[in-house]
Amino acid sequence: MKLLLICGGQSTEHSISRMSCTNIRKYVKDEIDVEVMGITREGAWYKLADEVRDYASDAWLEGAKEIKDNFAYLKSFDVVFPALHGLYGEDGTIQGILEMCNVPYVGCRVIDSAAAMDKVVAKKLFNAAGIKQVPSLYAFKRYDGEFVIINDDTSEDRQIVERVKHDLGLPVFIKASRSGSSVGCYKVSNEEDILPRLKEAGQYDRKVLIEKAIDATELECAVLGNDDLVVSRVGQILPHGEFYTFESKYEDEQSATCIPARVDQSVQDYIRKMAPIAFKAVDGHGLARCDFFLDNNTGDVYLNEINTLPGFTNISMYPMLMADAGISTTELVDRLIQLALER
Ligand code: ATP
Ligand code: MG
Ligand code: MG
Ligand code: MG
Repeated sequence: MKLLLICGGQSTEHSISRMSCTNIRKYVKDEIDVEVMGITREGAWYKLADEVRDYASDAWLEGAKEIKDNFAYLKSFDVVFPALHGLYGEDGTIQGILEMCNVPYVGCRVIDSAAAMDKVVAKKLFNAAGIKQVPSLYAFKRYDGEFVIINDDTSEDRQIVERVKHDLGLPVFIKASRSGSSVGCYKVSNEEDILPRLKEAGQYDRKVLIEKAIDATELECAVLGNDDLVVSRVGQILPHGEFYTFESKYEDEQSATCIPARVDQSVQDYIRKMAPIAFKAVDGHGLARCDFFLDNNTGDVYLNEINTLPGFTNISMYPMLMADAGISTTELVDRLIQLALER
């Protein structure tokens, strides 16, 4: 069997994908013939040299060959693992190319990827499925650059600020709708920062979500499967710093995780019940990491988001939750490939 592993990509999470791939590559069974393709930040496709095994290193393109006939190249594989995070990787776009090439691939398909990636769209689907979420508003940037709050056309700067204060109170989280790794995600405590942060988040996506900030314990649950799902135990994030920022995720060694979470069993049971409902609400396939908040003041549990191509580094929660469920990373990679082939 010929497997193509794709790493890098054009998103702000390019570097995380290269770390994920370095780890995934180590766990592919020996009997599978693996080739690794790198997508540069500029979007060029390269077949990486077989000797290179650390894709996170600056030397990842040493000996690489640029791919010219992209479709024919993809069609030459039995299965593809697009281990890309963020735009053009986790959002249905590469999945669309793979569908057109008629090649099986790991993970969510087109619409499930796109829906889960877009926080504004995902909220509506989760809401329709009866899943509790943090109160929010969303804004979109007109093509002339001005922000408008959807539903009532609030567009005067002062009205936007009043609307946020009135509906959500402060602090709020302002985040680009289609992003990940906390890029374009800000906590705003002062009203004078609302508009500047909306504009900043708007540099990553035209749609921006504004959410009530919760004093939260962050809990995550992993699911694996197409129809019948493996649902992991619940893991807890112990972020170092004000919230789980890009730096605290990948650079701050004082951030930690623990499995199982140190919260009441009833909270864990509820999350394990809701994670598959969230996955099915977007018609998920293969895998997802479902992120929840436990409100430390009220005890309410909210779904935050689901990630259809969660981090796969050696310190990432998804593979750790699966290992805790008795599925080693070697078996996990193998099962993901089988799940791609069976549908
Ligand atoms: P991921 O890397 O998990 O894909 P992301 O970029 O999609 O992250 P979120 O998970 O929505 O973004 O938010 C990033 C972090 O910001 C959360 O893990 C949490 O620490 C904080 N956060 C986001 N929204 C809220 C909220 N409403 N209340 C409290 N904290 C929040
Ligand atoms: Mg996310
Ligand atoms: Mg993500
Ligand atoms: Mg998250």
